[in-house]
Amino acid sequence: MKTALLTHADCLGHITPEGHPERVARLEHILHALEPLDLDRKTAPLAADDDLLRIHPESYIQDIRRAAPTEGFRQVDGDTFLCPGSVSAAYRAAGAAVRAVDLVLGGEAPNAFCAVRPPGHHAETDTAMGFCVFGNAALAAKHALDHHGLKRVAVFDFDVHHGNGTQDLLWDEKRALVITSQQMPLWPGSGRPDETGTFDTVLNIPLPPGSSGVVMQAAYRALAFPRLREFRPELIIISAGFDAHQDDPLAELNWSTDDFAWITSELCKIAGEVCGGRIVSTLEGGYDLRALSEATRAHVEELMKAAQ
Ligand SMILES: [Zn+2]
Repeated sequence: MKTALLTHADCLGHITPEGHPERVARLEHILHALEPLDLDRKTAPLAADDDLLRIHPESYIQDIRRAAPTEGFRQVDGDTFLCPGSVSAAYRAAGAAVRAVDLVLGGEAPNAFCAVRPPGHHAETDTAMGFCVFGNAALAAKHALDHHGLKRVAVFDFDVHHGNGTQDLLWDEKRALVITSQQMPLWPGSGRPDETGTFDTVLNIPLPPGSSGVVMQAAYRALAFPRLREFRPELIIISAGFDAHQDDPLAELNWSTDDFAWITSELCKIAGEVCGGRIVSTLEGGYDLRALSEATRAHVEELMKAAQ
């Protein structure tokens, strides 16, 4: 079986103002880089409101639908803008996560990557934030737990920014382990080690600016991977942000494309040990187009190797 790739043209219809880093070209470059790969290509469906209600209140979902303009842009947060196509894009991004979980848990794909935008890991329960509208990774986790009846899932977030939204949405969820590494200090400012969740199922790993892949690998080997193995998740969900790359303009970590391949390969190894290799990965950040597309391709190629 092949690695599944979920995407939809609607995700290219989420247009942001001129100069905004989270732009259409990001996904265009990723899709171009993935074009030659032998993937099981699937159309991302629109999420159902019943899916979104697993993580967001109805009032928030309605607010987002109402906020989308019929032309131009509407700002819903300091960094987050909606255009006429944004609601469809956000529903596809969330729907991709749900469908990817169904494919992997249904045995139709060994693992899956969702090439979607807007990203999700900064969206809190009732707050759009940091380019994010719906909490795609947290939704994948809740769907796996509540719809498929899994007992334990893990979300692994290697985006350079703290996954504050995922942490917020899963703060009280003892069936979900959230591991997130982030440059600190950096926006949004949260993600200290003492933020551990109601049931001690949140692990924050701050990394100082300038940290190389060597520093990351040491931290993951010492803290993240033992915790992940100990938790024995039945599914690993990856918040795949590539903005810790040394060429990224929004942050100051110095990881290489090979580092993203290494992380993915290690996560695939752990998934092989504890959950039959089951991984669902969804795109978060990454703002240097070349670094983003190369690192995403390296990530997906590792998923493909593990799928064989
Ligand atoms: Zn980020």
